[in-house]
Amino acid sequence: MQRNFISDTAAQVGKEVVVCGWVHARRDMGKITFIDLRDRTGLLQIVFIPSNKELLAQARVLRPEFVVRITGTVNERPEHLRNPKLATGSIEMVAAKLEILNEAKTPPFEVDKDTMAVNEEIRLKYRYLDLRSERMQRNLILRDKVTSFFRQWLSARRFIEIETPILTKGTPEGSREYMVPSRLHAGKFYVLPQSPQQFKQLLMVSGLERYFQIARCFRDEDQRGDRQPEFTQLDLEMSFVTQEDVLSLCEQMMIDLVKAVAPEKTITSVPFPRFSYREAVEKYGSDKPDVRKDKNDPNEFGFSWVLDFPMFEKSPEGGLQAAHHPFCMPNPEDVGMLDSEPLKVRAWSYDLVLNGYELSSGSIRIHQRELQNKIFKLLGLEDDVIQKRFGHMLEAFEFGAPPHGGMAPGIDRLVMILANEPNIREVIAFPKTGDARDPMMGAPSEMPKSTLVEAHIATDL
Ligand code: ASP
Repeated sequence: MQRNFISDTAAQVGKEVVVCGWVHARRDMGKITFIDLRDRTGLLQIVFIPSNKELLAQARVLRPEFVVRITGTVNERPEHLRNPKLATGSIEMVAAKLEILNEAKTPPFEVDKDTMAVNEEIRLKYRYLDLRSERMQRNLILRDKVTSFFRQWLSARRFIEIETPILTKGTPEGSREYMVPSRLHAGKFYVLPQSPQQFKQLLMVSGLERYFQIARCFRDEDQRGDRQPEFTQLDLEMSFVTQEDVLSLCEQMMIDLVKAVAPEKTITSVPFPRFSYREAVEKYGSDKPDVRKDKNDPNEFGFSWVLDFPMFEKSPEGGLQAAHHPFCMPNPEDVGMLDSEPLKVRAWSYDLVLNGYELSSGSIRIHQRELQNKIFKLLGLEDDVIQKRFGHMLEAFEFGAPPHGGMAPGIDRLVMILANEPNIREVIAFPKTGDARDPMMGAPSEMPKSTLVEAHIATDL
């Protein structure tokens, strides 16, 4: 007989079914034993009755987290024994056969309770157990709903999903890059992408017109606040668009997402309020305004747009650095000030803010070689450096690059806010600690000397 998911058993009253899962709890009540069986879809109460002595004895051996397969009949529970809190609370199964598929040691923490209060190092070391807890499963299921929603929504609007390389060359998003030594090319390195920025722009040059990717991004930052060395963005890019086109597409996508995956939430104002960077800073003292009316309401979603970011900011060395990244299109009204007053030049770049968190940044991009080269020069890059790092972009712009723009909402943060969680680690299956370690895998780890030698890494170990 085929295995049934627990959530499907409620519709099978009177039938004999097979369920599989983990023993969530066992209760011995006089002559009968109950277990709550758990699978990904929920909990089911299973009764072992005294008439089958052998089976009852078998059930009394069960301990939490044993893995079992049980065959039995689904019965309606008597009215007074129904549990309205459970989706399967009006039924129970009377067991006829029990197979123990695997035993389990006592877990280092209770997975039938919320694990938030458990020491995080231990939660992460035993992440596979932490993920058995109801809240963590709910969060991962929500995350899947969000990414599935984006895939369907964008596909219906003729976007196509394209994977871009993980082993690549740097793209500047303002952070240090992770490096991967090349074994075949001694002394050379790949870097892990901070974002697919250059590839998505090149896909526009290729004529793919509308691209998206659920993209893993890597940034080697000293761990400030709630950051992860690797995180996920909904990266998207479109050709022949204005800033207004990108904003309205993304705004509608977010409104539809909230309706589809979190209908209990209300959005503070639609259309989303818009502020210039300057207005936001003047009015809210921040470029991440929290526009919610009631900041204590977990079901209020305050989206807003911040526009007109400056193109440049002062670098710590006193020169200019890109306020976002160097591919943003300067506002044509300000292009005349590029040489004289570059710090006053606004870019066609925008942020989507949710409840005071930056959810996404994006921009209309430069698609002309001359202008892009000028921006690199204003950023203090020498010609040979420009050629070496970005020659391929400049060259591509000479082969019929269409005007284009896009953005990249952060999936981790979005799911965190949707799930009312306090940090992004709660919505990532296998996150790193605050200091970028994975206690479960033991990463980062030392490498055998022979591997280092093969990768041409000198070592004094
Ligand atoms: N690549 C940018 C980032 O990661 C987003 C974008 O401009 O589309 O911040």
